Amino acid sequence: MARIVMKFGGTSVADIDRIKNVARRVKREVDAGHEVAVVVSAMSGVTNQLVAWVNQVAPLHDAREYDTVVATGEQVTSGLTALALQELGVNARSWQGWQIPLISDDAHGKARIQAIETDELRRRFQEMRQVAVVSGFQGIGPDRRITTLGRGGSDTSAVALAAALQADRCDIYTDVDGVYTCDPRIVAKARKLDKITYEEMLEMASLGAKVLQTRSVELAMNHRVRVQVLSSFEDKPGTLVVDEDEIVEKQVVSGIAYSRDEAKITLTKVADKPGVAADIFGPLADANVNVDMIVQSSSEDGKTTDMTFTVGKADIERATKLLKDSAGRIGYQDLIADPGVVKVSVIGVGMRSYAGVALTMFRTLAAKGINIQVISTSEIKISVLIDEQYLELALRALHTAYGLDKQ
Ligand code: ASP
Ligand code: MG
Repeated sequence: MARIVMKFGGTSVADIDRIKNVARRVKREVDAGHEVAVVVSAMSGVTNQLVAWVNQVAPLHDAREYDTVVATGEQVTSGLTALALQELGVNARSWQGWQIPLISDDAHGKARIQAIETDELRRRFQEMRQVAVVSGFQGIGPDRRITTLGRGGSDTSAVALAAALQADRCDIYTDVDGVYTCDPRIVAKARKLDKITYEEMLEMASLGAKVLQTRSVELAMNHRVRVQVLSSFEDKPGTLVVDEDEIVEKQVVSGIAYSRDEAKITLTKVADKPGVAADIFGPLADANVNVDMIVQSSSEDGKTTDMTFTVGKADIERATKLLKDSAGRIGYQDLIADPGVVKVSVIGVGMRSYAGVALTMFRTLAAKGINIQVISTSEIKISVLIDEQYLELALRALHTAYGLDKQ
């Protein structure tokens, strides 16, 4: 007998038929003798609608009331899923975040989980085989108010619950059948991966692959939760996220991710002296604007350089305003903001032991006439910033160059 957490995303609970399908899947695991806890998202589209309503009433809203509103989508699906299970003769009940309780900090809108009380859930399963159907995405803060965990946060609810329950597996059911070498909607030759390491998955998630919330992967890695990403519409194994030593055949590059959510800012003729970078990035950090890639050109005259960096597309106006406001202190000639860029990243733990991985990327892009604007690297990834019109071309060429194409 295994203890399993099954998480179902928005498309898997998008309507009543699909919720009934979810209930059948859960029943199958219960019938097989497993101890099961279920975590559900809101029906697809519902959270977007709730967020839109909040913004229509108050664009600069009280984050506590935002949470009160947007957490409701999951309350609906947990109740309906519990009912669908009861209809199949499975003892089940719904749990809201505050009832468990799933305790978080008070960062409303992007709260972090601090503790999950599981004694009662375990007792009910053991004594009456009652399945807990937990609303994902939500918790209770120190102010005793409802919190939410950031968009996509149900993944994190599921992994955290699996860690707290010491579950054998955390199965994340979604509308794709696993994690792919690249987005199959763009690269037709993308392959499904049987396994991927936590570190690679973490890079993939934070670099733009939207299968799992980044925080859920961090949590899975720290608590060594065995996560599987699989389809709720098909009966076949998905992708396992595992420790590096479980992967026998290591690829140099395992996957290619991209993000359209990038914007480039260049400040020209910035003084080449100590303290300038702090003057530029200080106000951005204070305003919670995340800066990702940074390059500083070498100084030709020993007096000034150009500073180029990227921020999230949504932050470009705020960042531009902040930099204009502090233009006097920083001292620069022009501010050029360019939202027409994308970030393409190749990822693989094999990179640690192979040379020339970056060169392959640069040569491949050069052969297609694609200019690289900014480069950043870490131990297991290389990212480049390119003009957005070359995204598809770049992804396909790199996928072939790293031998990832399916046969
Ligand atoms: N319903 C929430 C969202 O759309 C949480 C989730 O689905 O993971 O972001
Ligand atoms: Mg999701």
